[in-house]
Amino acid sequence: MEFLDPQIEAYVLSRTQDEQEVLKKLNRETHSKVLMPRMLSGHLQGQVLQMLSHMINPSRILEIGTYTGYSAICLAMGMQTTGKLYTIDINEELEPMVRKYFQEAGLESKITYTLGNAIDIIPSLDESFDIVFIDADKVNYSNYYNLVFNKVRKGGFIIADNVLWSGKVLDKTATMDADTKAIYDYSNMVQHDSRVENVLFPIRDGLMIARKIV
Ligand code: SAH
Ligand code: CA
Repeated sequence: MEFLDPQIEAYVLSRTQDEQEVLKKLNRETHSKVLMPRMLSGHLQGQVLQMLSHMINPSRILEIGTYTGYSAICLAMGMQTTGKLYTIDINEELEPMVRKYFQEAGLESKITYTLGNAIDIIPSLDESFDIVFIDADKVNYSNYYNLVFNKVRKGGFIIADNVLWSGKVLDKTATMDADTKAIYDYSNMVQHDSRVENVLFPIRDGLMIARKIV
């Protein structure tokens, strides 16, 4: 399901900062060599993530779900000069490509890339995060939120991708598949969590942005 009229989307992109060369190359290589290239954030969402990062000006970012590194590079581009981004992915096959692009973006010293199950790795992180970007397996979104919550500073942000799930969140809850139900439950939990303020930002497949107020 396309959320934006294709002509409107083309116009929007023509009035949006060009994709940086390294991101263009990574986008192309992901589409030609990697399974499920639709998972890559892409030009519009990538620039939105970059802009949000510049606006927040974070010093510590955690990303759950690196894939080929596109969103990590976008988020890292908005960090303070001394900033650090941690990113976790379970798929070891993508490691050489991801490291190559972090290097090409000049970000290898600012990004800590850890391979493994995020559920096991998150508890070992001893940081106070300004932004957490949740974009891994959908069934664990609520677990990730609960695991990271105390590691996010007051005023920090937890951003979750794909919360519209191509519109499937409108299906009847009784007939939802597991991923759809997990995403539906995630947004519902955030909406009812009085410790955060939140907005569902309908960019691409939907970003749930929650700001921690306690
Ligand atoms: N953030 C990327 C896309 C991420 S796609 C972008 O916007 O460009 C989702 C990724 O989550 C996949 O690469 C997958 O390997 C990873 N993943 C799935 N389950 C995981 C888990 N339990 N722990 C860590 N990563 C996981
Ligand atoms: Ca995603």
